[in-house]
Amino acid sequence: MNFKELASEYKTPLYVYDLDYMSKQYQELKEAFRGRKSILAYAVKANSNLSVVKHFANLGSGADCVSIGEVRRAFLAGIPAYKIIFSGVGKSDDEIREAIEKDILYINVESEAELFRVAIIAKELNKISRISIRVNPNIDPQTHPYISTGLHDNKFGVDINTAKRMYIFSKNSDSLDPVGVHFHIGSQLTNLEPIYESAVIVADLVRSLEAIDIELKFFDIGGGLGITYDDEATIKPYDYAQAILGTLKGLDLTVICEPGRFLTANAGYFLTKVLYEKQNGAKKFVVVDGAMNDLLRPALYGAYHRIEAITDSASEPRTVDIVGPVCESGDFFAKDYLLPELNHNDLLVVHSAGAYGFGMGSNYNTRGRSAEVAVEKGQARLIRKRENFEDLIALEKEFLEN
Ligand SMILES: *Cc1c(COP(=O)(O)O)cnc(C)c1O
Repeated sequence: MNFKELASEYKTPLYVYDLDYMSKQYQELKEAFRGRKSILAYAVKANSNLSVVKHFANLGSGADCVSIGEVRRAFLAGIPAYKIIFSGVGKSDDEIREAIEKDILYINVESEAELFRVAIIAKELNKISRISIRVNPNIDPQTHPYISTGLHDNKFGVDINTAKRMYIFSKNSDSLDPVGVHFHIGSQLTNLEPIYESAVIVADLVRSLEAIDIELKFFDIGGGLGITYDDEATIKPYDYAQAILGTLKGLDLTVICEPGRFLTANAGYFLTKVLYEKQNGAKKFVVVDGAMNDLLRPALYGAYHRIEAITDSASEPRTVDIVGPVCESGDFFAKDYLLPELNHNDLLVVHSAGAYGFGMGSNYNTRGRSAEVAVEKGQARLIRKRENFEDLIALEKEFLEN
């Protein structure tokens, strides 16, 4: 990938996505489930650019969505309704209504109260809503607390007993069709054991439901597969799939997997240019043109991203903080990082930026969000324009007149 050329053509800050890498990741995971009916439902929130979602649609992917906006994106990108799932802990009435009207595969229900809302809304629409229930297996996923979702301390899903009660309610309701069970215990999982233990618990629930004549069709294992940001060992897709499938003996279920980060993170690069170097006491800073409003993960989670300098500088590496222009001390990409002396306009490439990068961006400090570029078979193309000042004020401007 010629980052220098891309930066000069599309300017910085810039997101670049390698679509071929995304395909490779998709195929590897899909292949791991071979021999069993399975759907990969791409977790749209990881990278929701329409061209990226369309790329997955072309590979046969479904979509896991966590807002009706994402559901609309999935439809626009060509994902068929029967492969679209709507998850999330706080769906509004309007969102539920639209999901039912659009006849998506199912709604992942995250609380008893939500189930009652879905039943009422489906009845109003004179429809039967397919649902799945998100179980919280109370297993520690051993990941960052902000991206852990499978403990009772977390807001997600319901405990097994509540889930059972909800399935019985659904079976007896004439506006609900319980078709699946769902769990998603966290993100950036690098340890297989918690996923396996969760699958065992949830598969047991499926068996106990069969015993009372509630037959599910979908076993939705969520996403969460970790990737290598630094030097982490990760879970091999094949081991992951086999561990899950091992818990489903005697059950005739389609496995649904909702990968996000695994498919896109290491396909993405964030390109930013060096503005200045400065020294505050003993501390050396490299100030770049990208900021936390472009890539929030370091500020939000203290996340590590590998950063590569493209420079003619031949100096020895020094320890620096790489920071953006935003008025927050949290606005950094790396702390105490080793880089050679850099010149104005040298390029830094932030790796593993294809998931939870652009999508978490904002317009803080009245900064337009970066452009996005896709590279496929050696060809680069723009897939989102850089936001300009007019874009940023478009929804406010008319109120100045008053
Ligand atoms: C975020 C999310 C995913 C994807 O998580 P990754 O760690 O990116 O794979 C899958 N399912 C649900 C319900 C999610 O909220």
